[in-house]
Amino acid sequence: MKKYGSYINGEWKLEGETFKDFSPVTQSVFAEVVDANASDASAAIEAAHDAFAHWSNLAPETRKDYLLKVADAVESLAAEVEDIIIDEVGSWIGKAKFEIKSCVHFFRTAAALTEQVKGYELPSEQGKKSIVVREPLGVVSVITPWNVPLNLSSRTTSGILAVGNTVVLKPSEESPISGGWILAKAFEKAGVPKGVFNVLTCSKKNVSEVGEVLVTHPKVKAISFTGSTNVGKSIASKAGALLKKVSVELGGKDAMIILEDADLQKAVTGATFASFFHAGQICMGLKRIYVDEKIAAEFIQRFVQKTKTLGIGDVRKFNCPIGPLINETQVIKIENQVKDALGKGATLMTGGVRNGLYYHPTILKEVTPEMEVYAEESFGPVVCIYTFKNVEEAIDAVNESELGLSGAVITEDTEKGFSIARQMESGMCHVNDGTIYGEALAPFGGVKNSGTGRYGGLASVDSFTQTQWITIDQGGRKYPPPFVE
Ligand code: NAD
Repeated sequence: MKKYGSYINGEWKLEGETFKDFSPVTQSVFAEVVDANASDASAAIEAAHDAFAHWSNLAPETRKDYLLKVADAVESLAAEVEDIIIDEVGSWIGKAKFEIKSCVHFFRTAAALTEQVKGYELPSEQGKKSIVVREPLGVVSVITPWNVPLNLSSRTTSGILAVGNTVVLKPSEESPISGGWILAKAFEKAGVPKGVFNVLTCSKKNVSEVGEVLVTHPKVKAISFTGSTNVGKSIASKAGALLKKVSVELGGKDAMIILEDADLQKAVTGATFASFFHAGQICMGLKRIYVDEKIAAEFIQRFVQKTKTLGIGDVRKFNCPIGPLINETQVIKIENQVKDALGKGATLMTGGVRNGLYYHPTILKEVTPEMEVYAEESFGPVVCIYTFKNVEEAIDAVNESELGLSGAVITEDTEKGFSIARQMESGMCHVNDGTIYGEALAPFGGVKNSGTGRYGGLASVDSFTQTQWITIDQGGRKYPPPFVE
């Protein structure tokens, strides 16, 4: 079995204690991974700190060339990477291909960001030359989850590196290879100077000690966290106490509103993809559908029918998009949420069946606030349908949630759709599409308990640089007379 490990200061660490990385597809050990500890975390941070001066002072076009080479390297590893993403986290083949494509695209788009770090000149009250410059922050710790591991690790790190920071990336213990090793391999292949990009592969057992160093080490200037709301809040509060810049991208309970005039083909397709892509294990996954009661019966009938056609099982087949959930704990959580809802009076429209780590796409109706599934994040293939008489009711119900990542509105009246999108408390909202959508240049992020981070294009420049105001006196400074020599 292949052994993997951390990548620190341009060296692979393949000695020391290991942990087992399980595949939900083969349900056996997928890889043996060397477990990073607190001293590895410190070493990676020191390496990133030492590399910072050189990396941040490179001409933008040199950093750009390196990032383009990283993109090329990922592309050249595509066949191997596809298999890893499928086996390590149970991705459907279409999702694995998408992750590789989006990773390459993130690095190519970020390459152009190297030239977008701009300052400006201000008029001065006292005739000074008054200039605002923008500079990178320094070492950024990046912590990412397992569900879309390559995509999420590249979405964050590409922009952070483009603007001149250096990185220590800690992927999830469920995806150390897809979320870390692949990128480290690409950085090595691209010849990026040592220390600029470091990866720590660590187990669940070591994550608190490694995490503590990644957040509190004095040489870490900012933290980028993507993951659950609970862990994100605890990291943000620690970082806040130390006055470090922190960007957190957290959970979702995303909603779609379907108006009476909706094109039902758009509604059904958008809802099916957003509810069941990667078996619902997507932060922007659709969990709540609010449909006008006048068209509810037809929408529900078509949505249920389409859902029943989704193939479950062999994720290497294109017509089998529903793979396993990541682990036993996650399946039990979903199973219990559905049992709880059914026990309290919800109606099962389809699904509700478990087969090992596979959970069938599930649609529930008549869900009420006392059921766990009503407000808790599900992170699995379960969606609840509600009906409404007037759209204001639906908007209020959407906004009742403590989470607000993405949203969707389906209507042929796009002006109305835009106005409803503006009223939905979510960091992103798509008219005539599902909730799962992103573009490399668009600001990705949520509101409320879905986080405070923004990534993508100029949003990454804002989030991972800081301004410095510099003035040059030109003889116009007026001091109080008693101080003047
Ligand atoms: P998680 O919070 O359990 O883990 C996320 C990362 O944090 C992992 O790398 C994990 O090892 C690390 N971690 C855990 N405890 C830590 C600690 N004490 N110190 C430092 N790091 C620690 O989340 P998960 O189960 O991996 O991912 C699923 C969650 O992520 C869901 O809630 C989902 O909505 C969310 N998510 C959000 C986005 C987004 O962009 N908003 C994207 C994907 C997933």
